[in-house]
Amino acid sequence: MTKKAKIKARPERSRSVNKTDAAERVRKIWPILKKAYPNAGTALRHANPLELLIATILSAQCTDARVNMVTKDVFKKYKSAEHWAKADVKHIESDIRSTGFYHNKAVSIKGASKAIAERYGGKVPDTMEELVALPGVGRKTANVVLGNAFGKPAIACDTHVIRLSRRLALSENSDAVKLEFDLAEIVPKKSWTLFSHVLILHGRNVCNARKPKCENCRISKHCPAANNPALW
Ligand code: SF4
Repeated sequence: MTKKAKIKARPERSRSVNKTDAAERVRKIWPILKKAYPNAGTALRHANPLELLIATILSAQCTDARVNMVTKDVFKKYKSAEHWAKADVKHIESDIRSTGFYHNKAVSIKGASKAIAERYGGKVPDTMEELVALPGVGRKTANVVLGNAFGKPAIACDTHVIRLSRRLALSENSDAVKLEFDLAEIVPKKSWTLFSHVLILHGRNVCNARKPKCENCRISKHCPAANNPALW
């Protein structure tokens, strides 16, 4: 069995989380984390909501740096939802190939763009209900767009947010949608968007998946999983 397979095979931990305690933990860690990452925000380059929507679709299983390299060229080529909608899927695939999963991503981009062009006159809608009704757009992508393109409070739960929320006992849920609703109850609404960005940065820089650097973690004294591999 490979090392990766061993990690995957680790049984899912189940801990019940007390909401009052979780809210109190957020109250303590939030000022510390916010201060630690003063420039937190999306690293996906975009000039408008459509570009952010497409960059977010491309970012699945891909680094932001790679997505930015690809979008630097493709956003010059496809300038509107109509352009994307009319493009041949094969051509889109070839333009976005290096981001991985290019067939599914090309189908999602073309489908979402077609719906935006036909239903909304080419403008990306700004509500959760309308965004998730677009082909290939789930809650995480919708939250990224709402929070970063439209300035609406939105919690985007990626793998880092899920991992840190469980380690910090903010929620027992590893399902992204359930977690989003749990976090919405304990994180102040005005901080929702920034909270996800900050958790993502802390996950990348300190609270890594395989070996968290608890000894260098500014919030370790508030973390139930600090130096406890059984809770990683
Ligand atoms: S103390 Fe360790 S497990 Fe807890 S948040 Fe910090 S790095 Fe992650």
